[in-house]
Amino acid sequence: MSGNQTFTMIKPIAVKKNHIGPILHMINEAGFRIKAMKFTHLNKQQAMEFYSVHVGKPFYEELTTFMSSGPIVAAILEKENAVEDFRKLIGATDPAKAAEGTIRKLFAESMSHNAVHGSDSDENAIIESDFFFSKIDRY
Ligand code: GDP
Repeated sequence: MSGNQTFTMIKPIAVKKNHIGPILHMINEAGFRIKAMKFTHLNKQQAMEFYSVHVGKPFYEELTTFMSSGPIVAAILEKENAVEDFRKLIGATDPAKAAEGTIRKLFAESMSHNAVHGSDSDENAIIESDFFFSKIDRY
């Protein structure tokens, strides 16, 4: 059975371009409830740990440098079928391939600067949420 929570980050480029508001609006309009949220800034070590699944890939260095280049918004989102529905809302990893009306189509600049993160499985949603939030930070 699919879970009812996913984890997202509004990435540094979208924060810098003042897209926090419009992106959160789309998330709420799509029926997601915010269960936890924080405005924070990953250091390089934390970005490397968060994306450790990509160690060794050619984009790992660029990705972790970018993700530690400025503040992000991290959040746990709640909705039925959360992981799959949120992946649909954000669109493909490569914004050139993202469907019309998706967050990445609207706000991403490139594959590396693709505006938002969304968990790709229920298991990773739990791991990623636990990376940022303790139990008392969730409402
Ligand atoms: P996501 O789940 O759609 O975010 O994609 P992944 O978990 O596979 O990758 C994490 C992030 O790494 C993506 O959001 C991209 O910003 C970046 N990324 C993934 N694949 C590539 C790639 O082939 N080239 C570059 N430059 N960045 C990539």
